[in-house]
Amino acid sequence: MPTPRVVDLGLDRQLLDLDFRDTEGLVASYLLPEDAGWTLVETGPTTCREALLKGVGRAGVAPSEVRRVFVTHIHLDHAGGVGALVEAFPNAEFFAHEVGVPHLIDPSKLVASARRAWGAAMDQLWGSVLPVPPARMHALRGGERFPLRGGELRVIATPGHAKHHLAFFDTGIRGIFTGDGAGVRLERSDHLRPAVPPPDLDLEQLFASLEAMRATDPRLVLFSHFGPSPDGARDLARYRTVVERWRDVALAAAREQPSVDHIARALRSADAAALAASGDRESVISGYELAAMGFLRYFETRGLLPGSPP
Ligand SMILES: [Zn+2]
Repeated sequence: MPTPRVVDLGLDRQLLDLDFRDTEGLVASYLLPEDAGWTLVETGPTTCREALLKGVGRAGVAPSEVRRVFVTHIHLDHAGGVGALVEAFPNAEFFAHEVGVPHLIDPSKLVASARRAWGAAMDQLWGSVLPVPPARMHALRGGERFPLRGGELRVIATPGHAKHHLAFFDTGIRGIFTGDGAGVRLERSDHLRPAVPPPDLDLEQLFASLEAMRATDPRLVLFSHFGPSPDGARDLARYRTVVERWRDVALAAAREQPSVDHIARALRSADAAALAASGDRESVISGYELAAMGFLRYFETRGLLPGSPP
């Protein structure tokens, strides 16, 4: 495996490309300096563990210097690797939203939920999900602040994509780590793709969270998929419309036939122009089937389909 890419973001902040599935530019982790040590935002899945450790080394950081590890949420492409890093980072404390913490300590429900979404591909994509010892795991709710060199890291509750989703704002570079809260925008692509998976997608919360992220007035919008946007303020401003367009397509399709396949086909054909322009690199992390599952469950639980409970 070649050493993955490390990109300087200024003020000693680094983007680490985790080379998910041996592919550049799909899953990012971020390394931020503290006065005595380093903070990591996102670990990626267990299958990216070696790439992450190589990236940390390439950034000139010893594993023992990593002091805090934050995840935006517990979906496996962001946090699946947390348990597998407990020994590699012997001095690190791990942080996630309080709703997510129990599932990182005992990942059995998390794994079962991922298996429902990803099926047989699960093990190959994400690898095994190891438990984090409770003493190393800390709960966040939003509003917390952690010191960085040249700034601080502010925790922002951003439910919607998942109810336990967090964003992080680095005041030093005025950069916001959006996780999946502002969708997926890969490098060299103008395609902003909704990230709207099951099981607890909540569009009203998602739109409110987007406003909370915009309110930080960021200079850099740092996607987990992938990297600093060339046009971050515009991405935050347009994401609501992008999601609403998919929601409308999905709802019309679900009312014709409430099946994942039918909704996914409708989303894919509504996206034909974007697919023709930039291919479908996003699908491995935010595919049409996953979005169809997310919308279908959201519509059913909101009573938006004939015959579903009000
Ligand atoms: Zn993701």
